Amino acid sequence: SSSISTPLSQIFSEYALIMNAIAGASRVFRILDEKPAVADGENAIPMPTISGDVIFDHVDFAYVPGRTVLKDNTFHANPGQIFGLCGPTGAGKSTIINILTRYYDIMSGSIQVDNVRIDSVKQDSLRAQIAQVLQEPFLFSGTIMDNLRYAREDATDEECVDAAKQAGAYEFIMAQPEGFDTFLMDGGANLSQGQRQMLTIARAMVAHPRLLILDEATSNVDTRTEKLIQNGLLHLQEGKTSFIIAHRLSTIRHADCILVINEGEIVERGTHNELMKKKGFYFNLYMSQFRGKLSAVTGVS
Ligand code: ATP
Repeated sequence: SSSISTPLSQIFSEYALIMNAIAGASRVFRILDEKPAVADGENAIPMPTISGDVIFDHVDFAYVPGRTVLKDNTFHANPGQIFGLCGPTGAGKSTIINILTRYYDIMSGSIQVDNVRIDSVKQDSLRAQIAQVLQEPFLFSGTIMDNLRYAREDATDEECVDAAKQAGAYEFIMAQPEGFDTFLMDGGANLSQGQRQMLTIARAMVAHPRLLILDEATSNVDTRTEKLIQNGLLHLQEGKTSFIIAHRLSTIRHADCILVINEGEIVERGTHNELMKKKGFYFNLYMSQFRGKLSAVTGVS
């Protein structure tokens, strides 16, 4: 490679890091502070404790009037089912999550959780029952234990330790100077990216929500950490209705139902095997990722 390629690639990777940090910060910001774009109705009631039944019934949505993003989305997730969302960039995967968590109101159709229309309940009471494990982990200054208990203050020490074990985080926590009492600097700056992700997985386990949203963590971690994280995420999905936004299709192979989104429409649905047999949109998406992987190894495209 030429001498100029190194500094240039460094600039680009730093740029990517900064952009990631900005995206991450805005997501955390959204969770903590942002005034909701939608208002609770006058007669909004608190969402009762949910079991995790989710219905999208002929949902249409646009961020900007006249520019429809989701068209006629219909699906039903039973409690405990794992749903994968895939499709090209800009297809509408994140938008489905944005409206399920009601950061925006839909134009027509309805979204129901446990047969209750989500626009009839207080937003906070809905979101409190949904755990989102986002790309950029959010940790605050406090001990590891404080961070694990963040979503459920009455969790026992034992529950937190169990969660850490299931998330694959126990080993590195015990290697810290003060174990679970180790103080984390703001954002968990004294931890590696992989460790921060494992902690947020453990935290979601402690919270034990009935509804889980995973935006696949695409991070630069070593293979072993990656395995730990993938394992932790699988544990986390157990018994929860899960929506997983997949960028790599391997993370949703086990899903009960994969929704293939293209230009705002659900163009295919089914299990991995069913969709592969179809030799349609999903199959092509899968093959192109597979080829991409192969050419990265062989240098042949
Ligand atoms: P990716 O894989 O790149 O994350 P995605 O499938 O999650 O893509 P979305 O983020 O849901 O896609 O975007 C769907 C469409 O909605 C895109 O055309 C995008 O430009 C548009 N969009 C997303 N967020 C907004 C917003 N806040 N305001 C207006 N348009 C938006």
